Amino acid sequence: LVQLYLPLNFLGAVYREIRQSLTDLESMFRLLREPAEIKDAPDAGALEVYGGEIRFEDVRFGYDPDRQILGGVSFSVPAGRTLAIVGASGAGKSTISRLLFRFYEVGSGAIRIDGQDIRAVTQDSLRAAIGIVPQDTVLFNDTIRYNIAYGRPVAGPDEIEEAARLARIHDFVVSLPQGYDTRVGERGLKLSGGEKQRVAIARTILKRPAILIFDEATSALDTQTEKEIQVSLREVSRNRTTLIIAHRLSTVVDADEILVLDRGQVIERGRHAALLAADGRYAQMWRRQQEAGDLKQRLAETRERQ
Ligand code: ADP
Ligand code: MG
Repeated sequence: LVQLYLPLNFLGAVYREIRQSLTDLESMFRLLREPAEIKDAPDAGALEVYGGEIRFEDVRFGYDPDRQILGGVSFSVPAGRTLAIVGASGAGKSTISRLLFRFYEVGSGAIRIDGQDIRAVTQDSLRAAIGIVPQDTVLFNDTIRYNIAYGRPVAGPDEIEEAARLARIHDFVVSLPQGYDTRVGERGLKLSGGEKQRVAIARTILKRPAILIFDEATSALDTQTEKEIQVSLREVSRNRTTLIIAHRLSTVVDADEILVLDRGQVIERGRHAALLAADGRYAQMWRRQQEAGDLKQRLAETRERQ
């Protein structure tokens, strides 16, 4: 029996090992949401980043051939500047960030970074240049340290801590019995949406890429934490080309340009003040959010008085 038990025990260990790898692989693929068919061009070279200028040239795209999602989107973000994209849910905002990361191939038109068509460069070099904080972060089944350092595996403990502080997650991490060695993910500690977002923000701060994408990156945070992180994010995005996809308009007021996207079309563009003066869709969205904010404020005050 012992003879049988030992190999079985061994097989059990191998099985667990394989399952673990599969789960990691699964979360990896979910993280990347990458259709397998995107391949590097045979002669693809590395993207050469000078300042990180982004250009979308009449980009059309649909996930399915019979349903167009982006109907000819054009914009450019000069190196180091900030572009904000706002619009109703389902307008195609996240799709723009996925195309820039080349999770999907454009239907027609082109996306260029510093003049280079992203189809002509290796995906590795493209993704090394871009840091993205997505709407819904999937963490690796590993330690918090690993999940933050993934942004730059050579980072030392001090750098990891500094990034975590900026992302306002350090205090939470050190309050855990195992600190940065706490395992998270499906088989570890379950983090809240806001905690996961802050881990992803720390990862991106650590990576210090030339191009930053924040896709509703602070949507799961309470207003106070969001305000605190906004300061850090402004710090990191200084001198980096930044694309902010935002739900709360208070986060886009300072952007160099704001695009209002509606059903895959840019319907308004300009700076905050100009868009307010134009009194179109943006102004309408702004007023609605101000009113909602006021109402919340008044409710809170009423509650305090009672
Ligand atoms: P937003 O970020 O502005 O809310 P998205 O860019 O995520 O919008 O989505 C735009 C549209 O594309 C939506 O109608 C959505 O249902 C559709 N869509 C998003 N992802 C996929 C997908 N993987 N396959 C098919 N349709 C998708
Ligand atoms: Mg989205």
